[in-house]
Amino acid sequence: MAETPKAPVWEQRWHPLREEWVLYTAHRGGRPWIGDTHRAAEITPPAYDPTCALCPGNKRVQGANPAYTGVYWFTNDLPCFGSETTSAGDEFYETKAAEGTAEVVCYSPDHGKTFVDLTDEECAAVVALWTERYRELGARPEVDHVLIFENKGSLVGTSNPHPHCQIYAGNMIYGHTAREVESGRKYHAATGGFIGQEILRRELAGPRLIAQNDSFVACVPWFARYAYEVYILPRRQVASLAELTPAEQRALGLMIREVTTRYDNLWQMPMPYVMAIHQAPTDGGDHRMYPFHLEFHPPLRKPDTLKYLAGPEVGGGSMTNESDPDEKAAELKAVPSVHYKRNQIPN
Ligand SMILES: [Zn+2]
Repeated sequence: MAETPKAPVWEQRWHPLREEWVLYTAHRGGRPWIGDTHRAAEITPPAYDPTCALCPGNKRVQGANPAYTGVYWFTNDLPCFGSETTSAGDEFYETKAAEGTAEVVCYSPDHGKTFVDLTDEECAAVVALWTERYRELGARPEVDHVLIFENKGSLVGTSNPHPHCQIYAGNMIYGHTAREVESGRKYHAATGGFIGQEILRRELAGPRLIAQNDSFVACVPWFARYAYEVYILPRRQVASLAELTPAEQRALGLMIREVTTRYDNLWQMPMPYVMAIHQAPTDGGDHRMYPFHLEFHPPLRKPDTLKYLAGPEVGGGSMTNESDPDEKAAELKAVPSVHYKRNQIPN
């Protein structure tokens, strides 16, 4: 049976956190595509890879990994920050030092696992370690911001499948967080409330929730910039990982596992994404109104079609989303919360 043609929709939606407009052109999502396609190869990596710089016991650029058994972190051998002085700038072409450090967090010693394979305890341990690193790095005088992020899959530039994420901690507050500091502060000044709680209230009432537990919900937000963008929102106002109770840390870990499982189940393939933990800067400011949340940005619009950032995005600086967030949320909600590989008979 032929699909009912989608009614053309041109609409702009205000992104309340980034304070920018997003253009929706849901009727264009099905336009014919004759470019590259990107279906991921279904290869399960081995549990140990002797050439992997993240596997236990292996050599890195500097030093070697211990025979670690759980979640494990180390300082990145090729950090993006340093302590060298900068070139001389002036009032117009200003410069400042890029101070700080970068770390790598391995979720598991098992090279072949991803977040979806972690046990409840392992999920909780990852979030507990993130929290410890946020606290410790954020307490350093030169660190104004701790950005924890995961690039998953070769489509977002990660050639090593070993389950890991990265932490950048330095004297630079990344742009999206800087915008959210401002939007959170303005909302609080205008209403006395918290912008994160207002988004939560609206998403709880809307059709875009895909999962929830005692402490967190996951949704495709009304203002999604990518087709399958997912936000994980805390049920209460918190500004950073440091404010979560141990029970909430665990609930966050379980919610991340559920979101990533639903992603994989969507097309029965490992879903590539960029995940970022948005949390309050550590620059000594009052950030109690900051809207702590996690963002997932998968680059795919279909199992074999990449969302290219091109003229409107790179050239114009505004995002175009060719899909309807309500529909994409329904797709993610409809798939099972148990990973498709669990139903396969091991060979
Ligand atoms: Zn490895």
